[in-house]
Amino acid sequence: MNRKILFALIIVGLLAVSAVSAQNFGFLNNNNDDSMYQVSLMQAFMHGEYNGVISVGDLKSHGDTGLGTFEGVNGEMIILDGVVYQAAADGSINVMSDNETVPFATITSFDEDGNIANITAKNFDDLTGQLDKTIEKYGTNNMYVVKIKGDFSNITVRSVEKQEKPYKEFTQVAAVDQKVFNHTDQTGTVVAVYFPEYMNELNMHGWHLHFLSDDKTKGGHVLGFSNLKGSAQIDEIHEFNMILPTDDTFAKMNFTEDMSSKISSVE
Ligand SMILES: [Zn+2]
Repeated sequence: MNRKILFALIIVGLLAVSAVSAQNFGFLNNNNDDSMYQVSLMQAFMHGEYNGVISVGDLKSHGDTGLGTFEGVNGEMIILDGVVYQAAADGSINVMSDNETVPFATITSFDEDGNIANITAKNFDDLTGQLDKTIEKYGTNNMYVVKIKGDFSNITVRSVEKQEKPYKEFTQVAAVDQKVFNHTDQTGTVVAVYFPEYMNELNMHGWHLHFLSDDKTKGGHVLGFSNLKGSAQIDEIHEFNMILPTDDTFAKMNFTEDMSSKISSVE
């Protein structure tokens, strides 16, 4: 067969295949990068594995949007537009240098597969309920990262004080060294990450929200809010990559305990 004709046939074939698969997806665009990259696992973190696994610089090579924390649970991490921010326990927001290290994080290269042009929510449960309904259409067994931009009449965030070794379990850290901040009239972005039920304990099932104000002065792990008016962009994710800690603490950790109730109590 003439090579040009063969080439044309292959192209036509590929187009037909992609048209069929596009129809099969509930989701709109299904843009390009659909991978999530995770540092460590929630179970290890809950057990007090706060040693850095990779650097902030390396983390940024895996995406531009996400959340996590820093070595020793030194505050909450919000990754937005490729910048890694720390919401510190003293309430300040800092851009973290590439040399800092990361014990736990999830990050993706955000691309908008769908959106909610106007979203209003009375509170946290109202918002996550609406997000649940939205992703039910596309499949609750996918992972999602959602950016919600808007105005909050009130938002409550927490951060955590840096821990010293020997590290205690995270439930104890949250009980003793958690700092809670309540801010009124904030405009900013919530980065929300959703993991399906079968990934509970690897991360955590459901929605995990971190906030950063537009003026980059306030933020943290979202505990609650009231009266959100804004919009949401949704990134549907189909691929998961995980890097494990390489230290002895992790290698010898006992993972037989069911941590799900502890995870939901602090997150
Ligand atoms: Zn958090």
